[in-house]
Amino acid sequence: MTGLELQQYLDFAYIVAVVLFILSLKFLSSPTTARWGVLAGEIGAALAVVVTLFNPEVAQYKWVLIPLIIGAGVGVPLGLVHMTAVPQRTALSHAFGALSAAMIGIAEYYVGTAPVTRFEMGEISLEVIIGSLTFTGSLIAAGKLQEILPQRPLTYRGQNFVNFLLLGVALVIAVTLVMHPERHSLFPFMVLLALIFGVLLIIPIGGADMPTVISLLNGYAGLSASAMGFVLDSKLLIIAGALDGSSGLILSIIMSKAMNRSFTNVLFGAFGQVQTSAAATETKPVRSATAEEAAAILSAANRVIIVPGYGMAVAQAQHKVRELYDSLTKRGVDVRFAIHPVAGRMPGHMNVLLAEADIPYDRLVEMDEINGDFPQTDVALVIGANDVTNPAARSDTTSPIYGMPILDVDKAHTVMVIKRSMNPGFAGIDNPLYYLDNNLMLFGDAKAFVGNIVRELGGGH
Ligand code: NAP
Repeated sequence: MTGLELQQYLDFAYIVAVVLFILSLKFLSSPTTARWGVLAGEIGAALAVVVTLFNPEVAQYKWVLIPLIIGAGVGVPLGLVHMTAVPQRTALSHAFGALSAAMIGIAEYYVGTAPVTRFEMGEISLEVIIGSLTFTGSLIAAGKLQEILPQRPLTYRGQNFVNFLLLGVALVIAVTLVMHPERHSLFPFMVLLALIFGVLLIIPIGGADMPTVISLLNGYAGLSASAMGFVLDSKLLIIAGALDGSSGLILSIIMSKAMNRSFTNVLFGAFGQVQTSAAATETKPVRSATAEEAAAILSAANRVIIVPGYGMAVAQAQHKVRELYDSLTKRGVDVRFAIHPVAGRMPGHMNVLLAEADIPYDRLVEMDEINGDFPQTDVALVIGANDVTNPAARSDTTSPIYGMPILDVDKAHTVMVIKRSMNPGFAGIDNPLYYLDNNLMLFGDAKAFVGNIVRELGGGH
């Protein structure tokens, strides 16, 4: 086979990989096809890697194999983490992706064979700046989510000024390097400033905003990969990076909208400060009920809407919830699930868990579609959800979550909330729902409590 023919085969395989990436995103947009989406993405990535090994420019396989083994050694355990740890795991993946983009840029600058042109210098600078800040930013985000670092925003006077000054200086160095690519001594300062900027960009952001920020960092990692594609003259990387970058950005916009927050508010609003409002410290009376009483109320109902949240994920209660669904459906109760776009800790969190428990997709209803049905609903059963049901978001203009669209569970005839205590949810604020006359607290772990209700209903194992 001639070199030209080989190149044509390689290019064709890359086009197939790109098509698979695009199909993957398309399939991922619906729960019914999401599994195909994962498969298409995996095959596309594997194809791209394997085909690259046939590139004549790959001179020594040992420098591919050694990192491959190390990478797989790190990647396999990372892939096995618990579902609730997926946001921080994703942040780590972005950190690694961005680090590799930054390192490839650094290598191209220092050890590239031909002298770097001005245009290439522009590409390299972009790749290295975005890659470096995404690397440290993602590490800080992962640390905050894993609670290794404090979740609360760390702020000080003049913070935004300092941050932008740092980024500004890094960009001035980048422009100087574009004018004079031979000024090697400036390059490390540009990298260092970008690394520090990544840390400073993320520390003022509260833990509650981390998933949105991670999605944004995903976008940055994609941009740096795309810039890397220009540096390495790889169309595959340019396209894959652009897909990654734009989907990350779109997702973070969707998440911000679902929380009724602007982008600048997420990045600079220091949301998630410790709340010291009177509401959080007051001890008001609430009504509570046992599993037996809850089972009696549920079995007397015609229409039930279950509202899952982060607590269901923590307790891994989805299979018990499925048993409850079966048990009530058998008794002729109409049971549906209300899905809030930011319930849990990542987009689609509830859909994934309920799909894992084989709850029919047509029983899962999005917030906008189901909200009008709560007034005609006998029981809204909230399982480990809190912020997404907080009526203060509708009425209390002083609430930090004011304006966030919520599930109108308080409008149901009876609301029952399964959670372990009166502790707040991720936004750290009290929920006035719990003090309403039509609300009953079902205190306990979600899995155990739902299991007890199922037993009272005479079902389950
Ligand atoms: P939440 O407001 O964080 O509340 C979860 C509740 O679950 C807690 O109040 C906790 O109360 C309870 N819980 C924890 N473990 C439990 C267990 N084992 N059994 C029973 N209950 C348990 O959750 P949410 O209503 O799902 O709201 C999601 C929050 O995350 C929102 O503030 C949203 O803005 C934020 N967020 C989500 C995303 C996303 O993509 N999904 C992105 C960004 C931000 P106890 O401690 O009393 O049990």
